[in-house]
Amino acid sequence: MGNNLGMDKTLPWHNRFAKLDKAFYTRLQPQALSHPYWISRNPSVAHELGIDESWFESQEALNGFTGNNVLPGCDPLASVYSGHQFGQWAGQLGDGRAILLGELDTPAGGMEVQLKGAGKTPYSRMGDGRAVLRSSIREYLCSEAMHGLGIPTTRALCLTGSDDKVLREEIETAAVVTRTAPSFIRFGHFEHFSYNDMHAELKALADFVIDSFYPACREAGNPYAALLEAVSERTAHLMAAWQSVGFCHGVMNTDNMSILGLTIDYGPFQFLDAFDPTHICNHSDTQGRYAYNKQPNMAYWNLFCLGQALLPLIGEQDQALAALEPYKSIFPQSLEGRMLGKLGLTKPIPEASALIESTFKLLAANRVDYTIFWRRLCAFTPTSGHESLRDLFYDRESFNAWALQYSELLAPVSRALQADLKLKNNPKYVLRNHLGEEAIRAAKLKDYSKLHTLLEVLQSPFEEHADDDAMAGFPPDWASGIEISCSS
Ligand code: AMP
Ligand code: MG
Repeated sequence: MGNNLGMDKTLPWHNRFAKLDKAFYTRLQPQALSHPYWISRNPSVAHELGIDESWFESQEALNGFTGNNVLPGCDPLASVYSGHQFGQWAGQLGDGRAILLGELDTPAGGMEVQLKGAGKTPYSRMGDGRAVLRSSIREYLCSEAMHGLGIPTTRALCLTGSDDKVLREEIETAAVVTRTAPSFIRFGHFEHFSYNDMHAELKALADFVIDSFYPACREAGNPYAALLEAVSERTAHLMAAWQSVGFCHGVMNTDNMSILGLTIDYGPFQFLDAFDPTHICNHSDTQGRYAYNKQPNMAYWNLFCLGQALLPLIGEQDQALAALEPYKSIFPQSLEGRMLGKLGLTKPIPEASALIESTFKLLAANRVDYTIFWRRLCAFTPTSGHESLRDLFYDRESFNAWALQYSELLAPVSRALQADLKLKNNPKYVLRNHLGEEAIRAAKLKDYSKLHTLLEVLQSPFEEHADDDAMAGFPPDWASGIEISCSS
């Protein structure tokens, strides 16, 4: 498996994206940080990329993944895109602090490797091209946590740091996350070429995405409408996955929407503690545009923007609208499927949607801790005592009525089967804000032990980690005071 290279060999970089026309990107060098050091290496992604373990520990790797030298064979570039931010057309954006090093082959196909925070690009606008340690730790941990949960996402290979100062609300220090994905193309890439009437480039981009990632669309009567439909389908499944684990992205602008349906650009995200459907995790989102319960509709709004951008290729507006239509049924079906698994129910039953709705209502009315509720539910059987679950609710009567309704539906399912299903669908560990915050505070003092423990636990969140039970507990009181904004 992998390329398995020794110290003396270079990695077999290539770069399909760089074969596109120059209109799509600018070739450039990353900018060095002073005296970089390792913060974390992720062996799981390294293994997938075929990166040799001992080489990964080398100074050359450290420099290469900080942007202090260009690894042999890399062809670094920053790509241009545009986007709608908070509902408004924002014009040209682009990789303002992300630099694509190239692509490595893995058993799962080509994987792009990108540095985030490695200096200014032509698309940095007013930004400094840097990323701070705080937000880089959050992205590093959360992308791996999402992968551990089985949710499509970009991943993270490593995290390096430097004592170079970066100015945000206060002075912080710089870090670079090396992240990977089959492609970092966003809805905003298509919007860019469409809004600038660059239809030849728009077509080249769509053809590249179809040929590389959606080959079945080529067989359709209208491949571009088929692409829109396929992206809508993946996005619908992604939204169902987010909603089912209580994940709030926080900045679902069209430039943060992956054409592959991956979770991308971890900023002010949050996993819900207490279940509040109207929760807004981004302190900068004053209107609550991206509140937890609005995410599925916002994704649809973004898909509509993508449809508009693809219209010159699709031709007929009706075909674009028809391609978006399935989202409306796939999302609820996908969510219901996930919720059935969480409830330990093995097959769709007519009463399922009513039960799911009443569960969400009860959780919201009692502001129950979302992750703890579902994990405790794993031990629920129609005949067991329900004390540990009931303790989470102050309205005990409503809980009892719900438990009765649930018990009736659960009764026909074998105990072993439902317990197994629930344990596979209800994670014990999610990256709660306060856990990330504790890792960040320690890392600022150059203690990375908490970060490493969290990484390990979050990579297998459905398993028991006996020594780390505290990470599965209720958030401390100070957690509700953590304010996460777009500042990163
Ligand atoms: P985001 O909201 O983080 O997805 O970023 C929106 C746009 O701003 C993207 O084009 C980013 O590349 C750019 N950006 C964000 N932070 C910086 C920064 N510190 N330096 C340069 N560009 C940035
Ligand atoms: Mg972004």
